[in-house]
Amino acid sequence: MEQNFDICVIGGGIQGAGIAQAAALSGFSVALLEKSDWGAGTSSKSSKLIHGGLRYLQSFEIGLVRESLKERRTLLNIAEDIVKPNWFYLPIYKNSQHKPWQLSIGLTLYRILAGRKNLAGFKRLRRAQWSQLKGLNTANLQTVFAYQDAQTDDKTLTRRVALSAQTEGATLLCPATVISAEKTHRGYSVRLNIDGLEKTIYCRTLVNAAGPWINPVAETIQPAPPMVNVDLIQGTHLEFAEQLSDKCFYLEAQQDHRAIFVMPYKGGTLLGTTEKVFSGDADQVQPSAEEIEYLLEVIRYHFPHFNHKPSKAWAGLRVLPASDNSPFSRSREVQYAESDNYLAVYGGKLTGYRATAEVAIKKIIKSMNLEGRRKVKDSSKVEI
Ligand SMILES: Cc1cc2nc3c(=O)[nH]c(=O)nc-3n(C[C@H](O)[C@H](O)[C@H](O)COP(=O)(O)OP(=O)(O)OC[C@H]3O[C@@H](n4cnc5c(N)ncnc54)[C@H](O)[C@@H]3O)c2cc1C
Repeated sequence: MEQNFDICVIGGGIQGAGIAQAAALSGFSVALLEKSDWGAGTSSKSSKLIHGGLRYLQSFEIGLVRESLKERRTLLNIAEDIVKPNWFYLPIYKNSQHKPWQLSIGLTLYRILAGRKNLAGFKRLRRAQWSQLKGLNTANLQTVFAYQDAQTDDKTLTRRVALSAQTEGATLLCPATVISAEKTHRGYSVRLNIDGLEKTIYCRTLVNAAGPWINPVAETIQPAPPMVNVDLIQGTHLEFAEQLSDKCFYLEAQQDHRAIFVMPYKGGTLLGTTEKVFSGDADQVQPSAEEIEYLLEVIRYHFPHFNHKPSKAWAGLRVLPASDNSPFSRSREVQYAESDNYLAVYGGKLTGYRATAEVAIKKIIKSMNLEGRRKVKDSSKVEI
């Protein structure tokens, strides 16, 4: 096995896979190191949406929404067999947080930010059409909007991006657990555990894309690299064997006005998500009884006839800026921590992985003093 690389990327989630792909495309020798399986972490526990994040307009994260909508369009082109458009129905009740006119403005802006040749805009259903919505509670219902976004299989997407990185020349190592890393005169030496055997590899730049494990991994690096102060936010989903609808619903939780998605999934239904500050070992995250009850209350309120028992419940962890604010209101922008030969990528969205990878590679090119000689190669035409 090769022992020296330009770049070692720790973490085979969507961000690590995306950075390895962009690095390989840009002509770097790169190793992608994953301790468990491609997409085994948060990248298989998401809501599986490739979306612009309509609700981020509320917090004026316009740049993030525009970028995500652009990425949605690209992913619909380069991964069309696993990124599929769908309609999302958004019911507004008398006690909903937003009024119909506010949603109208938000959806108009969403359509404008999407630009041309992207998914179609939105529509408002006539009252006579409400009966098409599979038993939706119509008591105090004021109106229903419908707009388009896309669904995917997050784990498959991540695996495909990792395999694309390999096709472009990256070395994929899995299972390979990073035990520690140490700065050398030229970069880093990285100690790995592969099938119980210890191995050391070397790189000029070390990228930490270990998702919820990012700071515990950073703590094994000598000398201590810069770290961002973050919270891990647990999000739970429920799966049902029964299918509620072939369309998606964007619901407002009656308990706290948070956004909850109900989506067709593997012939059944997926419902999520919650947001709860997590502490402890990221490998041990589990849905709590309160989260399950919270989600069941939301679906029972909106679809009283859908009183099935969930077949599965699982939880994933978001990396969000540490704050006293509610997780729902915290920024979803990616944060970076950098020092000589080291880059850590905190947070981000599944949808935006290509954009994040592009920023990461630009930073690496700059830190290696390769500006003008090396360029980030565009991956928007590389089918995955
Ligand atoms: C509940 C929830 C719903 C979401 N829904 C959406 C959505 O619908 N759409 C969207 O765009 N985004 C969504 N997101 C955000 C998105 O899923 C995440 O931002 C993204 O998956 C994070 O990817 P990552 O690569 O940073 O982390 P991860 O996927 O967690 O990858 C990190 C990897 O590092 C590996 N690792 C850890 N330690 C080591 C080590 N020592 N050595 C080697 N490997 C190691 C882990 O095994 C893991 O595979 C959601 C997030 C959550 C939590």
